[in-house]
Amino acid sequence: MPLMLPEARERAVLLTDVHTVVHLDLTSTEDFGVEATISFRCTQPGASSFLELHGGTDVTLDGEPAPYADGRIALTDLAETNEVRITARMPYVHDGDGMTETIDPADGERYVCAHTSMDITQKVIPCFDQPDIKSTFALSVTAPSHWTVVANGALESREGDTWTFTTTPPFSSYLFTLVGGPWVSVTWDEPYAPAPGGTLPFGWHARASQERELRRDADELKRITSTCFQHYTSIFEPEYPYADFQQVFAPGLNWGAMEFPGCVVYRDEALKQGTPTELEREWVASTIAHEMAHMWFGDLVTMKWWNDIWLNESFADFMGYDVAGVAAGYTDAWTSAAITRKPTGYRADRRRSSHPIAEDEDNVLDADAAFANADMITYAKGNASLSQLGHWLGEEDFLAGVNKHLTTHAFGNADLADFLDSLDSESEHDVRAWAKAWLRTTGFDTLVVTRDGDVPVLTREGSRPHRLTVSAYDDAMQLVDSRDVQLGDEPVRLEEFAGRVVVPNSGDETFAVIRPDEQSWSAITAGLSSVESQLTRAVLWWTAVDLTESKVIGVGELIALADRHLRPETHPLVFEGVMRNLQTITRRYAAPDEVAGHLAVIADIAREATDGGDPALAPGASRVFARLSSDRERLVDWLGQDDVDPGVRWAAVQRLAELGEPSYIDAEAERDKSVSGHHAALTARALVPTEAAKAETWGRLMSGELGNHELDAVGAGFWGWEQADLLRPYLTRYVSEGLALAQRSGQAMGDLIGDAFPRLPLTEDVRRELRAAVASALETGDVPTVLARSWNDALDDLDRTLTTPS
Ligand SMILES: [Zn+2]
Repeated sequence: MPLMLPEARERAVLLTDVHTVVHLDLTSTEDFGVEATISFRCTQPGASSFLELHGGTDVTLDGEPAPYADGRIALTDLAETNEVRITARMPYVHDGDGMTETIDPADGERYVCAHTSMDITQKVIPCFDQPDIKSTFALSVTAPSHWTVVANGALESREGDTWTFTTTPPFSSYLFTLVGGPWVSVTWDEPYAPAPGGTLPFGWHARASQERELRRDADELKRITSTCFQHYTSIFEPEYPYADFQQVFAPGLNWGAMEFPGCVVYRDEALKQGTPTELEREWVASTIAHEMAHMWFGDLVTMKWWNDIWLNESFADFMGYDVAGVAAGYTDAWTSAAITRKPTGYRADRRRSSHPIAEDEDNVLDADAAFANADMITYAKGNASLSQLGHWLGEEDFLAGVNKHLTTHAFGNADLADFLDSLDSESEHDVRAWAKAWLRTTGFDTLVVTRDGDVPVLTREGSRPHRLTVSAYDDAMQLVDSRDVQLGDEPVRLEEFAGRVVVPNSGDETFAVIRPDEQSWSAITAGLSSVESQLTRAVLWWTAVDLTESKVIGVGELIALADRHLRPETHPLVFEGVMRNLQTITRRYAAPDEVAGHLAVIADIAREATDGGDPALAPGASRVFARLSSDRERLVDWLGQDDVDPGVRWAAVQRLAELGEPSYIDAEAERDKSVSGHHAALTARALVPTEAAKAETWGRLMSGELGNHELDAVGAGFWGWEQADLLRPYLTRYVSEGLALAQRSGQAMGDLIGDAFPRLPLTEDVRRELRAAVASALETGDVPTVLARSWNDALDDLDRTLTTPS
């Protein structure tokens, strides 16, 4: 039974001073054992409460069979101080929600990772599973003798096969974790003056079969970690709260990464088998910085309830991009954000499911609703809004406000009102009015340029105050001048830019789309690649994508723009980011009879960059080329060469399979037995364009037997680029059978089934049929919350592609 907000409110008042001592036994492969002693105070002696524990068997309370039902252990007649002892057997899971067991296909080694998050820690240990009841945790783990165990606390001792960790400071239950397996590790002592001895234990850990990759990347991973840590500890006033800092590339995680105190986990795919592309390198840096920011913002100071999850995520997302640049040297992280991250925020904000960044608690009554809301409004738009706030307040006042917040609420919980109190105490600006306009509303503003004679006039359609840079260019798109503009209700005349091309938000400081005037747009389309600033180029490329998605220009015009201006593009983040957008647009907006032409242009741009020899462009470009090209000879030729990157090889195998030549899959799978190879082979098999192969893949997809990442891999291959006719029967089956699968699975699988939505070029009639099938399933009301949210969003996205509204 999911915890509801009123119950959480009541329990937070009732229970205080919680301490958890827990022992886990991971030696059995059938299930694992839990023994927990939880002590706490009760503010109203005689009252009753409950602990959550999901899926336990043989559950005892103080040595007797526990009053255990609906995932709750009843605690009655509480005294002022209480101590309860729970034992249970708990199941391993394979969907990434809970104690996730994975067998590495490369070497058969077993890994067990407590992938927890909102409402999930109760699948691992008994706990008061809500963010505003914090507990200390003293953990010990018995594990197979060749394993290493890493957890929130620092390692205190190892006796035989039992690992004991130091008692942690108090944190929320959703942040509890441990990971066990034969990890390979790179460890060091990080200088930190406040720590005993002046250093803290730091480490990176990965599966044994990823040892080569970990050693290859270790110096850079250490460098990013150290520079970010030294930066945060120099700007944040509270000391780093935990006894060590471990980072793990863990299998089976559902998210990109998770900010467990003292023990951050990342998806193991982030440690690339081949040469990472520049976007992938930047992602790793900004994600390290993101998760480390959470040690303070999220872990030390935590939201009171899930409606304020934006406080965690918007802030960490903002710090992630910023600190990857200022501390770790990834100075173009904001360029990457402009063309990859921020667009996801605009797209989310256009849908009916859009919600204020800071949502009313009444709209987030349980964790399922919160999970659905942990979307790109919360991350990308929240990030962009805080970035605008920092720009508007000035960096110094913003940081002073943040520090006030962290020191006031350290080891506790805080909400939006608390955050605004902290900012307000350090700034002359009206932060509450700003928050009302930016955090409590939905949608985004449009910055419109018009001309009065030849004087550009900047107008805001919308309701928010903006501070941004406006740049003026000559007709060849050479920068003439830039100025800082405060834009509100009144239009701003740009007298000094008379006759010039103008680009508002050229520094991407605010969250708003641009509608350039005709003169400017015609110069931009003629000279986009001549704009010197890569950040401004990224903003302009996004503007072209947005104009396409808004049907102001056609997909063909966007592809033609890329044909002209992406070929000369030398910045890898802009190049790769635009490439991703072109593929997304083609998949969603192109008609089946246009696809081959668009793919040919995109593939040829990628071919030119691959053959051009620029080592920064080649890793990203060669993957796109291999995945989209119809040049079979070249693809087969690559597979005959030994030194071709594994990612490129798999892209070629997948493309050949999609083109009807599946014979390369088995050999490649034999050659590459890694986890990423296993997933790439699943994608390749799903692409094979025969009725028999599709039927087999479909059976696998809907079997309920695939692990979370396997389902993701099969779903990624099933809807081939040019397979609309072949796949037609599966469109409605996806709706009925996907729903049935979601109904018998958990939150994580519901999300993945939503991700497997048929996104391929379809005729408008077929898109309408698909739309009708999804809409009627949603009308029944039987669709689980997370999948319903995903499907409603998919319908909104489909509607944008229709020439007349449905
Ligand atoms: Zn985060």
